[in-house]
Amino acid sequence: GPQLRVGLIGDPVAHSFSPRLQQPALDALGIPATYELWRTPAEQLLVRIRALCQQGCLGANVTIPYKESVLPLLDVVDPLAAQIGAVNTIVNRDDYLHGYNTDAPGLLRALHEHGLGSLQADGMISLKGYTAVLLGAGGAARGAAFALASSGIECLVILNRSLERAQLLAALIQKSYECPVFSLSDSNFLIPHSSSIIINATSVGLHEEASPLPADVLARFNADTFVYDMIYNPIQTNLLLQARTMELRAANGLSMLLHQGALAFELWTNQPAPLEIMRAALMR
Ligand code: NDP
Repeated sequence: GPQLRVGLIGDPVAHSFSPRLQQPALDALGIPATYELWRTPAEQLLVRIRALCQQGCLGANVTIPYKESVLPLLDVVDPLAAQIGAVNTIVNRDDYLHGYNTDAPGLLRALHEHGLGSLQADGMISLKGYTAVLLGAGGAARGAAFALASSGIECLVILNRSLERAQLLAALIQKSYECPVFSLSDSNFLIPHSSSIIINATSVGLHEEASPLPADVLARFNADTFVYDMIYNPIQTNLLLQARTMELRAANGLSMLLHQGALAFELWTNQPAPLEIMRAALMR
């Protein structure tokens, strides 16, 4: 059959985990497609996006710095992606480009895999009964905040170095969801709740800096608190080390990376993703 293509649009793309996640999955299902790295300077973005309409092209992943800027270049944007204002997956359907955000549902699937929440009949994950503390207010935090709010979470606290960004994100969430959202810039004002989830969506920990949450603040949380660090490279961060020292359940961002990839795979191929093959490929 004809050779198919799919790839990653961004700049830089060289260190991405996506090829090692997607290629074994395509191969396992016998789909004759190659997952390519499409490093794209800003002045070539428009041409790159329109080239996705070519025959044999399934679509693309989108990464830094284009998750927001691709939206106006697409024919159809999924409502969740439009709400978040970020697209990480593009699907070519009969020469129409459809944009999706699989980071947000990928986070919820990851949390569910770690034993949180419940799977609903419609395939959505419910976090009813939980409260969450979200560290950060950047791009990754925005997707996480919409994911958490859409999951029926009882209360969301956004803690960010710059209070203004936390306030802006809180206001944005409140436009679409009724769950109470608080914004803070000082972790000392955190009031721990039962059944809490702490999610790090800051970049603190990428380069072995101190933790995004002081150890004495983390120590005030209940023993059933779950700590999720969206960072997956490195797989061990100071936040995760602190959590484990305090015997809190904790996980790194590899599970979210896996599930956003599996959801993208399903959108491109219309077939269930071979999740365990992808997981094994990622762990290798
Ligand atoms: P942004 O640059 O958009 O946001 C960075 C965030 O980190 C801001 O909230 C910023 O606070 C905060 N921050 C940065 N430096 C410091 C510091 N020294 N002290 C305190 N806060 C700081 O980045 P992204 O949102 O795109 O990415 C954040 C992280 O999410 C990355 O580490 C990335 O690896 C991870 N990620 C993981 C994914 C996964 O699949 N697991 C998917 C996507 C992202 P301020 O607003 O005050 O500047």
